[in-house]
Amino acid sequence: MLVPLEPALLQATRATPILEMDTTDHLRDVAHLGSANYDSLRTQFFNAKVPLVNPAEIWRPRTTAEVVTAVVGAKTRGQNVGVRSGGHTLTCPALVEGGILIDTVNLNREIAYNADDYIVSFAPSTTSRELSEFLTGVGRFFPFSHYPTVAMGGFILAGGQGWFAREFGYTSESWIEQVEIVMPDGQTIIASQTEHKDIFWAVPGSGHGFFGVITKIWARTIPARKLYHSTVTFDSTGKIDDLIEWAMNACDAAPTEGVDITITTSFADKGSGSGDDSDDSRIYLTIDTTIYRESLEEAQTASEMLSRFPIEFNDSLVAVNPVKEASWSYVWEVQTSRIPAAGKYRRQGDSLLTNPQATNEQVSLQCKLIIFS
Ligand SMILES: Cc1cc2nc3c(=O)[nH]c(=O)nc-3n(C[C@H](O)[C@H](O)[C@H](O)COP(=O)(O)OP(=O)(O)OC[C@H]3O[C@@H](n4cnc5c(N)ncnc54)[C@H](O)[C@@H]3O)c2cc1C
Repeated sequence: MLVPLEPALLQATRATPILEMDTTDHLRDVAHLGSANYDSLRTQFFNAKVPLVNPAEIWRPRTTAEVVTAVVGAKTRGQNVGVRSGGHTLTCPALVEGGILIDTVNLNREIAYNADDYIVSFAPSTTSRELSEFLTGVGRFFPFSHYPTVAMGGFILAGGQGWFAREFGYTSESWIEQVEIVMPDGQTIIASQTEHKDIFWAVPGSGHGFFGVITKIWARTIPARKLYHSTVTFDSTGKIDDLIEWAMNACDAAPTEGVDITITTSFADKGSGSGDDSDDSRIYLTIDTTIYRESLEEAQTASEMLSRFPIEFNDSLVAVNPVKEASWSYVWEVQTSRIPAAGKYRRQGDSLLTNPQATNEQVSLQCKLIIFS
């Protein structure tokens, strides 16, 4: 979020001594450039490859009022504002040189469910794992992200493709009921289909260009179903084109209702190479199918095209885990085994996979480029 300095607003801000309101409370949680904990707070990102961009201050507000103080103070001083919820965007755009970083990690930390209207409310730093645990406890579901530590603030702005999106659509487009936002002038608003509609419209997809700080989110839920999971892994050496073509066709043929398919490639002999990339040429291709249905029979039927592969792949089969009932904690374990955990690895992101018009041949080529470059 970039807050441009407008002379008229600057004047108004100076006339109002907002910074005098709660200095003792909020100063406890502000780290200045050069202070002892500054760099460990600055580098709290999923990607260990954090650019050398230094905000002047890192704020960790606990309340919406403290966010107002931070935003208005930055505006008064002519600083730009960056916001971090879970820190998963690989380029770390929340860091703004000489500006302030508002880290929402401690902000409004409460998840609440209203059984009258089936709405769940939560903080922007709430993770998918936290929501899955809470919602399982009340027998409800909301399509959070596929990775346990992704936070909802960045997810609804710059992600939004949740579990079973083939059935439920983009989470950010159709599941969010309202958001609380601190605007660049310090005003706190609620944006929804009926209030501040234009700002609500801008939330999904504004990403790093969003012009306010989201401080609280309300979302609709549906009754929880049962979770099932299966995995098949092939050694794709010499067969990557054929395997990807088959896998993409099987994905296209799978029912959209409650079926989520992830295709991952990995080095089979990771660790024996040197430097960032393995020297080894053996590539494993793994297909994880997560199914959200009411019974094992339904789950088996829904995913059968991914368990029936052509006979010529039999020799390449490395492992098969047939469809079985699963829990969210099992699914999170699988996800973190495919994409290793936060903060340890330097990562590079490329994608054409978000382009629904991409052909299977283009996807296949892109996968090979990622694997071999
Ligand atoms: C391992 C992994 C798995 C992923 N899985 C999925 C997935 O299944 N589906 C999907 O759609 N995406 C997925 N993503 C992408 C992810 O949704 C986006 O990177 C998202 O922006 C992450 O949100 P965050 O809050 O964790 O990240 P952050 O880096 O904290 O946020 C990203 C940006 O959003 C803005 N922002 C964050 N919080 C706020 C706030 N409270 N107010 C205003 N602006 C804010 C800031 O500009 C910030 O730079 C994944 C990413 C990774 C690394």
